[in-house]
Amino acid sequence: MSAPQQIASHGPTSAEALDLLPTGIVLADVSGRMVRRNAAADALVDSWEDGVLGRRIAERLADAVRPGAGPTREQVRVPGHEPRVFEVSVRPVAAVTAATGGSSGAVALFEDVTERLRVEVVRRDFVANVSHELKTPMGAISLLAEALEGERDPEVVERLSGRIGTEARRVSDLVEDLLDLRAIEEDSGASSSVDLVTLASEVVDRVEPMAQRLGVAVEADLPTSDLRVDGVRTQLVSLVRNLVENGVKYSDEGGLVQVHVSEANGRALVRVSDDGVGIPAGDHDRVFERFYRVDRARNRDTGGSGLGLSIVRNVVQGHGGTVDLESREGGGTTVTVRLPFGAGTPAVGIGEFAP
Ligand code: ATP
Ligand code: MG
Repeated sequence: MSAPQQIASHGPTSAEALDLLPTGIVLADVSGRMVRRNAAADALVDSWEDGVLGRRIAERLADAVRPGAGPTREQVRVPGHEPRVFEVSVRPVAAVTAATGGSSGAVALFEDVTERLRVEVVRRDFVANVSHELKTPMGAISLLAEALEGERDPEVVERLSGRIGTEARRVSDLVEDLLDLRAIEEDSGASSSVDLVTLASEVVDRVEPMAQRLGVAVEADLPTSDLRVDGVRTQLVSLVRNLVENGVKYSDEGGLVQVHVSEANGRALVRVSDDGVGIPAGDHDRVFERFYRVDRARNRDTGGSGLGLSIVRNVVQGHGGTVDLESREGGGTTVTVRLPFGAGTPAVGIGEFAP
């Protein structure tokens, strides 16, 4: 029975174990004075004497050992070049550890929650935007349906039902974009070798019916052999589909969209160009933001939600690539995506989406 005890006596101490935790931990004695800090506590606090966070923790510990004191939890903002937010919980403890001699004292736990709060805001905005984008066409559908009820004039019936169809397409396009985003989240990490040539020709086939409806031609200029990158197939499909759909949607009748895939300077290159309406210079960066659309009036009939290019940007970043936009108002648009052949780290989620 002595062997296990020996092993135990050579095991890690509880102080060493506390040092492995990412949470800052500070123990105070019966007088509220700090007696022990783990490694994370010292790494997270700039100064225990005159830093905002260090001072606040010291104050709370001193308060916590007063008779009748209870646990507290608060967020502490630390201003600076990169402002941070910490969540600090302090509670009185009857007997902390041997460090306090078994007497009562207090313990403070704290962590940096800046990133978590940022992600929460992005998610909240996202849900608000999606709800808004769904509410508008759904409201229109219900008004149009009401107007249709009891309508006898065949011309009016045709016009109203046509508009219901347009609004319904808007809803289904948005839902499709959202499903893409979901697929991007779920698939993150599931990399495989993806042939961009097959992928591009599949996308062109899929967009063809829409192109025909709008009277736009789609031309594919693809190499005869495979061009493989390590990546997440569903994400790369979304990327190319969004570019080709944009080319088609923002072209006039009789327009031409060209999809080109090749190898250039040791990277795979996907280029989609159109001779359509173009994007004003001032909007070049903004079109990659979620829900940003250049001119709602101009775009009303295209039924977009403004998610397409943000999906493109996020997929490209996740695959370690780059995306370039060349466009002139009235002079067509060319989007060029370059992807490394080797594996990127496709880890994109709604939460990480840049605003
Ligand atoms: P979604 O793709 O979600 O259905 P969308 O096409 O409006 O909607 P994005 O693909 O993100 O959204 O594009 C954002 C905006 O950029 C569009 O609304 C459009 O104004 C402009 N845009 C994008 N691609 C082109 C293009 N090829 N030609 C002209 N304008 C474009
Ligand atoms: Mg789009």
